[in-house]
Amino acid sequence: MSKIKIMDEILANKIAAGEVVERCASVVKELVENSIDANSSEIKIELKEAGTSLIKVTDNGIGMDKEDAILSFNRHATSKIKDESDLYNINTLGFRGEALASIASVSNVVLKTSQGEVGTLVNIKGGKIIKVENTEARKGTIFEITELFYNTPARLKHLKSLYTELSSITEYVNKIALSHPEIRFTLINNGNTILKTDGSNNLLKTISSIYGMDVARKMLEINNEDDDYIINGFISLPEVNRAGRNHIITLVNGRVVRNQELNRIINDSYHSYKPDNRYPIVVINIELDPSLVDVNIHPTKMDIKFSKLEELLDLVKKTIVNKLNKQTLIPVIEQPINDFDTELIIEEKVEVIESKEEKKVIELPKIEKPKYEEITLDFDNQIKEEEPKYEERLPLLYPVGLVHGTYIVCQNEIGMYLIDQHAAKERVNYELFLDRLSNPVKDKIPLLLPLTIELSNNEYIILKENFEFLNNMGFDIEEFGINSVIIKSHPIWLTKGFEDLQIRKIIEAVINKEKNFDLSKFNDHLSATLACKASIKANTNLSINEMEELINDLRKCHNPFNCPHGRPTVITFTKYELEKMFKRSGFESLK
Ligand code: ZN
Ligand code: ZN
Repeated sequence: MSKIKIMDEILANKIAAGEVVERCASVVKELVENSIDANSSEIKIELKEAGTSLIKVTDNGIGMDKEDAILSFNRHATSKIKDESDLYNINTLGFRGEALASIASVSNVVLKTSQGEVGTLVNIKGGKIIKVENTEARKGTIFEITELFYNTPARLKHLKSLYTELSSITEYVNKIALSHPEIRFTLINNGNTILKTDGSNNLLKTISSIYGMDVARKMLEINNEDDDYIINGFISLPEVNRAGRNHIITLVNGRVVRNQELNRIINDSYHSYKPDNRYPIVVINIELDPSLVDVNIHPTKMDIKFSKLEELLDLVKKTIVNKLNKQTLIPVIEQPINDFDTELIIEEKVEVIESKEEKKVIELPKIEKPKYEEITLDFDNQIKEEEPKYEERLPLLYPVGLVHGTYIVCQNEIGMYLIDQHAAKERVNYELFLDRLSNPVKDKIPLLLPLTIELSNNEYIILKENFEFLNNMGFDIEEFGINSVIIKSHPIWLTKGFEDLQIRKIIEAVINKEKNFDLSKFNDHLSATLACKASIKANTNLSINEMEELINDLRKCHNPFNCPHGRPTVITFTKYELEKMFKRSGFESLK
């Protein structure tokens, strides 16, 4: 019996029709997904001119017999959907059927396929079968698409630059490779390999193939579950971030999906660990009962709705935040070792030996391979480093001085550290204010000189509506003549010496409260603003005692590594890096 069944008309209509094939990427997507359906363990995508001259997809899947090979170009033919209920089952990969027919109608397609015995070649151009013949019997399927859109000049024009086409194909292949680490993918354009994965079913290796070893080294593994969901995957350290949000990849039951709320919560979980306009690299797979999702199927995209969304968002956020909260996140200043460095070290060693006037044969010293350079990922046996205790995430640091009135120089046995005193104090302030704002107490301090503030008529109207809000924060605020208010007491936690400034900032923030007011966001913003204003200014010379106090306060923070705006508070030059920079590496004798 033929594997491909003709879908009935109703089902076909249910599938959102329309622009199935609009870009080179949609052709690649269709062919690759066919290859996945055919149980391929290896899929090779070759392009010429970003697919505009050639798209060739070769797989080692189960292949088709002659009957299916011809039928596969039939409109409404599909082997993937058997009945209507499958449409809502995310376990089913396909919902296509008309795509191949569409591709064949606007290009020249040569299909070679075999189940291992006799092979079939089908050539279709502009939707018409030109040739069907027997061919070599290599198991698997090869699709070659040329002259794409030759008979639809409007669509041809619609194609963007080659660069744009190639980048959207690459983005798609990256995602599909991440969702199928068990498949070996190769993507080649004009003979240049863009992506090569090894099909070892190791997600971190796939991440490494796409983003490189340096990024893979800075990915953290996450695992968690509740009654309905199991989540696992990798999240980047906050220092690894990108300008665009399209490196946040969510999979549901192994399939790439789009869900804005999910993307947002993933990014939000990094809040204050990185600047808000930078985005992490994240690959998360969510396993769940397919009945918990509603899939809005459109041939070119995959939107998904979860029936227990809040629960899922909570789980994802908790998992990421917990992971980040357990890391030591001090960026290490690294300098790559190159051949020049090695030569320099060798020369110097030779000199040392000669200076001792030892007449024995000079042996080139074996360079002790530096510890850090050695770190390549052992993907199969990842050592689970022990997570530092909460209060020890920022190690003990001993201040030795201040440079430029801005950076505190510290040291410990690991290396040298620089702390940005403004950013550090800002973090300490921020957590204090956020805590006070989130857990308001009624204690207040009377102002010796009550503060009057004059406002515009409009500001005054808005502010008057918020008197109660301010009262709850710990302010005594009253009307005081035309468009003026008088403040007689303020919350206890305002910073000494900054009271006036902070009161004005709070009033300003209250007046500018957004329409869809979110208290926790408001508190967060306000804390960050107040924290900055009350932090240490540049060119303030702290005493060693004050530095120690600041470091101590910083160590108690939930996130000691970033200011509330995501800038680093501390960076480190490890002892090893310093030795490397001074070309001392591996040379005990140079001490
Ligand atoms: Zn600041
Ligand atoms: Zn800041």
